[in-house]
Amino acid sequence: MIKIKPYTELTNKDEFFNLYLYMVAKAVPFYPEDVFDDDYVFPSHIIQTEDDSYKISPRNRTKEYQQLLIGNNVISLGTKEKTNDEKQKNDALLAHNMIYNFQNYLDSLFSASSVNYTSFDIYSFLYKENGRELTGGHVNKGNLRTLLTTHMNKTALSELKLLINDDFFVNLKEDQKKDLKKKSKNLLYHVFRYEAFSQNKNISRLVEMLGVKVCPYCNRLFTTTVSKSGKTVRPQLDHYRDKSDYPFLALSIMNLVPSCGVCNLIKSNKKDEVLYPYEEEMGDNCTFHVKPKNGDLSLLIGVQPDNKDKIELKFKKGDENKERINNSIDIFKLEELYNTHTDIVSDLLLNRYICTDEMIDDILQNFPKLFQSRQEVKEILLMSKLDKERLGERPLGKLIHDISSQLDKEYAKIKLIGLLNKKE
Ligand SMILES: [Zn+2]
Repeated sequence: MIKIKPYTELTNKDEFFNLYLYMVAKAVPFYPEDVFDDDYVFPSHIIQTEDDSYKISPRNRTKEYQQLLIGNNVISLGTKEKTNDEKQKNDALLAHNMIYNFQNYLDSLFSASSVNYTSFDIYSFLYKENGRELTGGHVNKGNLRTLLTTHMNKTALSELKLLINDDFFVNLKEDQKKDLKKKSKNLLYHVFRYEAFSQNKNISRLVEMLGVKVCPYCNRLFTTTVSKSGKTVRPQLDHYRDKSDYPFLALSIMNLVPSCGVCNLIKSNKKDEVLYPYEEEMGDNCTFHVKPKNGDLSLLIGVQPDNKDKIELKFKKGDENKERINNSIDIFKLEELYNTHTDIVSDLLLNRYICTDEMIDDILQNFPKLFQSRQEVKEILLMSKLDKERLGERPLGKLIHDISSQLDKEYAKIKLIGLLNKKE
């Protein structure tokens, strides 16, 4: 589990955010002026998704959508909407009514529940300003921006009154769970429309700009974005807070974690909280450790080609973030998955054996223009980065880093007891 940079740390963060806002505005039914700043600059080279140039147009009036407007008391049966402005207003009113109903529904579940829930109020958050209700379907612009950019940790969400207590979901009865899921889905399909957002033709460019090269959850699979002749390959976007529990966070940028398909799939619907990659990582607090199964330390330092079956990988854990670290290891099956890579670890052991300190010094001396430090030589020999800030640049970066520093320590220990003088 490797930390990734939030968009705020990108060099082209303004360009990124402009494109993101454009895609959000295309997906949500809110008024464009509630989404954009007055001095909004449309991003250059945008891929237009409809024929409306840069204008955000109201929804298409399909039969189902018409029904939805009627069902949510936005229009009455037989109403003919004439202008785009009228349609836009009705779109915004639909969002208002759906969020109002969602809040009321949750309130009724909260009050019937025995769980001491954290106070939660998405409705007031979006539709009140200084305690006063906004009219015409307008949202609190500042709060909408906060919703779109908030971090997903519990403290941040609970300060905004947007956190739902974990126990609340667990304690719901089966029929309540089903019903809530349906209501969440409605919100997801008609207000915080993630599908529309993720199908926007600009999504690949947006994801590419985030620059996440390897899945932060497993650090095993590349998450590269490539486009050719209109077709693209890109990573999936995991919702750190599940979009069926938190439909109103479905478009929030800090809730979208570029990840591999495997991790995205196995994490879906899991309630236990894993490490939050925009803020947290395993780091020094949870490291890979290779162990000889039979306890024979010489396995780690002697030439033992193909000893992959004689060694195993374990995590060495400290006390920090214990619960989320354990959840991450369990949910992503990290220990089991990484133990399928003991062949690579076996190669690392051999690599460490043949690349002695003297040899590294020689390379450094012979190629002074190529390498500035011993670490740079080691990185080439290991085909990986050893700098803690750059472990996410290559698959298995953390594994290689941790095993390499474990071996450095083992060698130092073993040198002392003279085990290391058996070259062939
Ligand atoms: Zn992954």
